[in-house]
Amino acid sequence: MGYEIERFLGYVNDGLLCCICRDVLEHPLQAPCEHAFCTTCIHGWLVHHNNCPEDRQVLAVTDLRALHRYMRNDLSRLQIQCKNYRSGCEMVCSLESVDKHERECEYGRMSCIHAGCPVQFERRHLDSHLAVCEHRSRECPNGCGYAILSAEDLHHNCIAELRTELELLRSEMICRVEETKQEMESRLDSQRRHMVQKESLLQAEIEELKSQMSRLLSDVRTLVASERQHRQDLEQANLEQRELIELLKGAKRDCRTKTSDASSSLPVTRLESLKRRTREVTII
Ligand SMILES: [Zn+2]
Ligand SMILES: [Zn+2]
Ligand SMILES: [Zn+2]
Ligand SMILES: [Zn+2]
Ligand SMILES: [Zn+2]
Repeated sequence: MGYEIERFLGYVNDGLLCCICRDVLEHPLQAPCEHAFCTTCIHGWLVHHNNCPEDRQVLAVTDLRALHRYMRNDLSRLQIQCKNYRSGCEMVCSLESVDKHERECEYGRMSCIHAGCPVQFERRHLDSHLAVCEHRSRECPNGCGYAILSAEDLHHNCIAELRTELELLRSEMICRVEETKQEMESRLDSQRRHMVQKESLLQAEIEELKSQMSRLLSDVRTLVASERQHRQDLEQANLEQRELIELLKGAKRDCRTKTSDASSSLPVTRLESLKRRTREVTII
């Protein structure tokens, strides 16, 4: 439906009227035949017809286009009174801005903002209604904190209300404590698991070190034993060396006193065997 033509100040071109409702175009659309309509008017028409209501040319919803720009400009410049002019609003503005004004118009009707309140009034009376609205929430005059929405609420039992509130808080607290407890436990659990893991790792390291240590100890023992053997061999060799030197000295003395070869053959054999042994010890 269009805007009532009486609301406009000044002359309104016929081209800006809807071909169906004959009021001034509201949210206009244009057919290929150039006829223009309010969106709601032409959509309603095309539910039961398939032609232009003015010249009966074939027409479908998909043929409809936006109004020519020059017509849109003419429309938006028209001066119109607020729709609440009968209630006393004296606002006159361009068609372009009338919707915005009407959404906030002090003479526009509105429902009470309190849920359940059936009263309707002009926007300018909102404050005076709210002061007396039966549905406004007030707190209990005895201070229990209960919100009073109706006359029956005035006879509520403050202690019962407080007890309910208390129970609610208590169960909420229990829930929260339980949640915190579970969270702490799970955190402790994960820490414990971590510690156990670490402990077993350390244990394995200790075992490894122990086995390395025992290997080293047995190596050291072997070395000490071989070192002792070495020393014994060396002492033996020294002993034999001294013995050899004594023998050599004896042999030299014998040479000087005797000339016979047969008597010196035994000490020479003894000398050869000692030389061999000394070499073996040196190789070890
Ligand atoms: Zn119309
Ligand atoms: Zn037409
Ligand atoms: Zn108004
Ligand atoms: Zn109310
Ligand atoms: Zn109370």
